[in-house]
Amino acid sequence: MTKISAFSRPTAGAYLEPAIDQPLSRHTLTMPLPSQVKIVEVGPRDGLQNEKQIVPTTLKIELINRLAEAGVRVIEATSFVSPKWVPQMGDNSAVMQGIERHAATVYPVLTPNLHGFDLAIQAGATEVAIFAAASESFSRKNINCSIAESLKRFEPILSVASSLEIKVRGYVSCVVGCPYEGAVDAKKAAEVAKTLIAMGCYEVSLGDTIGVGNPASIQRLIEACSRDIPIAKLAGHYHDTYGMAIANIYASLQMGMHIFDSSIAGLGGCPYAQGASGNVATEDVIYLMRGLGIETGIDLAKLAAIGDWISTALTRPNGAKAGRALCAKAPA
Ligand SMILES: [Zn+2]
Repeated sequence: MTKISAFSRPTAGAYLEPAIDQPLSRHTLTMPLPSQVKIVEVGPRDGLQNEKQIVPTTLKIELINRLAEAGVRVIEATSFVSPKWVPQMGDNSAVMQGIERHAATVYPVLTPNLHGFDLAIQAGATEVAIFAAASESFSRKNINCSIAESLKRFEPILSVASSLEIKVRGYVSCVVGCPYEGAVDAKKAAEVAKTLIAMGCYEVSLGDTIGVGNPASIQRLIEACSRDIPIAKLAGHYHDTYGMAIANIYASLQMGMHIFDSSIAGLGGCPYAQGASGNVATEDVIYLMRGLGIETGIDLAKLAAIGDWISTALTRPNGAKAGRALCAKAPA
């Protein structure tokens, strides 16, 4: 057998991965796949937040209701960031009060500070999410403070949330690459994730915000994070800029990860990174899971119809490949 002893790795390009210095341990790649996964639908928040035109509140409410009806059990509904920063989410309270609360579904919301947290609770939120970046430059440009300062700002939320028994999810953005700094060290992302868990987050979502990760960099990231955090508390949040998101999810499943964020019809983008795509499409993720025999509780046919409907309503192309294929096959 010919042994391929060496091959040249590309060295040019802002986000190309450096050569692997630490090969992954073999056992991590041979773990059995999980039998079920949790899908966190982020389309109504992470997705719609990046729509240029203001989306009517009624449309947002209908999207959330339809997703719950299709079996989605976690739907990030909106954000309580100041409407000055994110006008698209200015109807946050109306959305929270307008949705039908499906008994089996939770509707977390993003809260940047204690004021946003208070408004979220008044609007009936039972779970919130906070966010920090793994890159200093992104943190400064996105939320105007250092990573350490941003974590400090969330302390009051975690303390009040704990007294109210409100669950707090943490996000780390730019875990693989940053639009300003290029490649991000997995150790840095792991350090921020570990801090969020230590502060009281029950789960941390690892966000490849600009979608530059690949299965190797994602597995190195998970390996770094799972040194200090149980894999059951880690979620994958992968944007699909380079078309790697589904491969990244598969690579994460191989590491035992079983929580994934996704966006109906692949809604979204990143206002801070030109050309960045939205999150991986929920339809594509469910198609993958079905093929692998992994339970999600979500009805793929219904989901595909929702993706088609919301894409038409927003007059944007449907970003879900599986969704488009299923709708093309479905009788008119
Ligand atoms: Zn995202």
